[in-house]
Amino acid sequence: MTMMSTRTTARHRILIIGGGTAGITVAARLLRRGHTDVAVIEPSETHYYQAMWTLVGGGQAQAVRTARPQAAVMPKGATWIKKSAATVDPAAGTVGCTDGSSYGYDVLVMSPGIQLDWDRTDGLVDALGHDGVSSNYRYDLAPRTWEFIRTTRSGTAVFAMPSGPIKCAGAPQKIAYLACDHWRREGVLSHIDVHLVLPTPRAFGIPEIADSLEEIIAGYGIHLHTNTEVTAVDGGARKVALTSLGDGGTDTTLPYDLLHIAPRQSAPDWIKASPLSTGDAGGYVDVDKHTLQHVRYPNVFSLGDAASTPNSKTGAAIRKQAPVVVDNVDAFLAGRPITAHYDGYASCPIVTSARSVLLAEFDYSFAMKPTFPLLDPARPHRAYWYLKKYGLPFMYWNLMLKGLV
Ligand SMILES: Cc1cc2nc3c(=O)[nH]c(=O)nc-3n(C[C@H](O)[C@H](O)[C@H](O)COP(=O)(O)OP(=O)(O)OC[C@H]3O[C@@H](n4cnc5c(N)ncnc54)[C@H](O)[C@@H]3O)c2cc1C
Repeated sequence: MTMMSTRTTARHRILIIGGGTAGITVAARLLRRGHTDVAVIEPSETHYYQAMWTLVGGGQAQAVRTARPQAAVMPKGATWIKKSAATVDPAAGTVGCTDGSSYGYDVLVMSPGIQLDWDRTDGLVDALGHDGVSSNYRYDLAPRTWEFIRTTRSGTAVFAMPSGPIKCAGAPQKIAYLACDHWRREGVLSHIDVHLVLPTPRAFGIPEIADSLEEIIAGYGIHLHTNTEVTAVDGGARKVALTSLGDGGTDTTLPYDLLHIAPRQSAPDWIKASPLSTGDAGGYVDVDKHTLQHVRYPNVFSLGDAASTPNSKTGAAIRKQAPVVVDNVDAFLAGRPITAHYDGYASCPIVTSARSVLLAEFDYSFAMKPTFPLLDPARPHRAYWYLKKYGLPFMYWNLMLKGLV
């Protein structure tokens, strides 16, 4: 790994923006493929395995186990540019950074992740992190979620998912199940009025999985509000406003003693303002959903949460996207046709208790794609709990980020 000094203007064969799940996986794979000039623009000193934050919030894992120094995951041979990208000029083939420096590229891979728009829910910024309000969407707050769950013995608990694409759409409900499972084991579940607020018509987009989850929801005694969103938080009065989004939605106000909320999300603002954006409300990097190549700039590719592809935004999706990007970057640089295709695969290990996980795996058509077909893909299984808690973290740090799977 080479460190660049500030304000250097340089050119790289392949420039990657963002050294998170997608950026590091692609960089590692490109280097294994024999590319020698791969640079990663990444400002953060720390790399996070975010998928574990659900277990941290549910008291099943420690936050420190989800963080490693960025230097430890940056692949050997990659040039780490420790800066923030701020602009892209795809016509000139340059990226500008916040310190005023700029970098040229032959191929650009966009993977700066998604933006958490905390301020798009009224009152949320002021309420967050204290008096029972938390979110597993922040490293520093996931342990606070557990603190609030552990200390709640009665009252009202609200778990809320926002409308629009978000990373790991299952995360807002997984924490509700972990909390209820804990309260049941503590013998206090019947003293807590639990509400799960979802913007979608059902608990999941695949009917068999929705049936199974709605059984679990009923089993915990959770009040399910579908087609509904929390639109305002009043931290002083400890109340949330629920707004109906359509058929059967709820317009009401709920008191809370505990509120777990996932923020609304969109592409980073600087991408929305760039020529790479779709130009719509989400503003993601406008790529072909199969080839992951930009629809207007053929030497630009994107994957992960920042890409416009309509898959479920997960690390699991990136595991299937990264080889496609690498094959297509290879082909582009060699002047060959772009042939690798991503089918929309994503998986979401839905933690339904501290012993069981329903492993939802599907593609763009919402057809189930079970890796282990012997286990009913619409039901939770104990084996998947071990996969989620031990297998997937091992695979992430030791295989995926090293470009091996
Ligand atoms: C609570 C929670 C639970 C989840 N559970 C699961 C799960 O069970 N399974 C699963 O598969 N996925 C899960 N995910 C989703 C998964 O973590 C993300 O989909 C994945 O990390 C996205 O990878 P990415 O590389 O696109 O973005 P990230 O991993 O977020 O990385 C983006 C990187 O870009 C950098 N960056 C940002 N702005 C700039 C800039 N201007 N210039 C340069 N660099 C920049 C950031 O510092 C960061 O390192 C979960 C996420 C959360 C929050």
